[in-house]
Amino acid sequence: MKPTKIVFATANHNKVIEIAGKLGEGYQIVTPAELGWEDDIPETHETIPENAVEKAQFVWDKFHKTCFADDTGLEVDFLNGAPGVYSARYAGLPKNPAQNVVKLLKELQGVPFEERTARFRCVIALIEDGELHTFEGICEGNISLEPMGELGFGYDPVFIPKGMEKTMAMLTLEEKNAISHRGHAVEKLIAHLKPEG
Ligand code: IMP
Repeated sequence: MKPTKIVFATANHNKVIEIAGKLGEGYQIVTPAELGWEDDIPETHETIPENAVEKAQFVWDKFHKTCFADDTGLEVDFLNGAPGVYSARYAGLPKNPAQNVVKLLKELQGVPFEERTARFRCVIALIEDGELHTFEGICEGNISLEPMGELGFGYDPVFIPKGMEKTMAMLTLEEKNAISHRGHAVEKLIAHLKPEG
């Protein structure tokens, strides 16, 4: 059987790989770039759910095809929830993931490991037949004292999921997908797309 095409409103190749790995062979992700949209997708709101909805709505309005968007933020308790919705531009614009990590470690300098609790929050917004559905996934953990690992992307080298001794950047794609914020949000998306299981 041919896979069902679903548009993913992102230009982030890492997110595509993670979600494609979790969705499996029944679905084929199509990106806006593959449909001819090479520009940025606007993200102008102050909350993660609103940004996820904005990105999905933008792509739905352009193509009228079933589409979803993922918006993710890292919430650090010691920083009162920062960088949160500003995670992508924490160290300023243009976005620089490596500098974001440097800034985060600087802000947490001297803070003991037990007080470096944090979580990734991911919201996936799906628009199907013009109807909006949202799915949230959370992964609790701690910010490490220094970056470790080469895999993943973004803040993965400094995020140690709860109960683990490795950062997310030391996990394989399958291992990350099994416990991550995005993995959990995609599980809810899959349950919605295939309610019969
Ligand atoms: P956005 O959802 O693309 O806006 O991402 C917000 C910020 O969080 C960016 O700096 C990403 O690199 C980072 N980010 C998003 N998802 C992940 C993840 O799964 N692991 C680590 N960092 C992430």
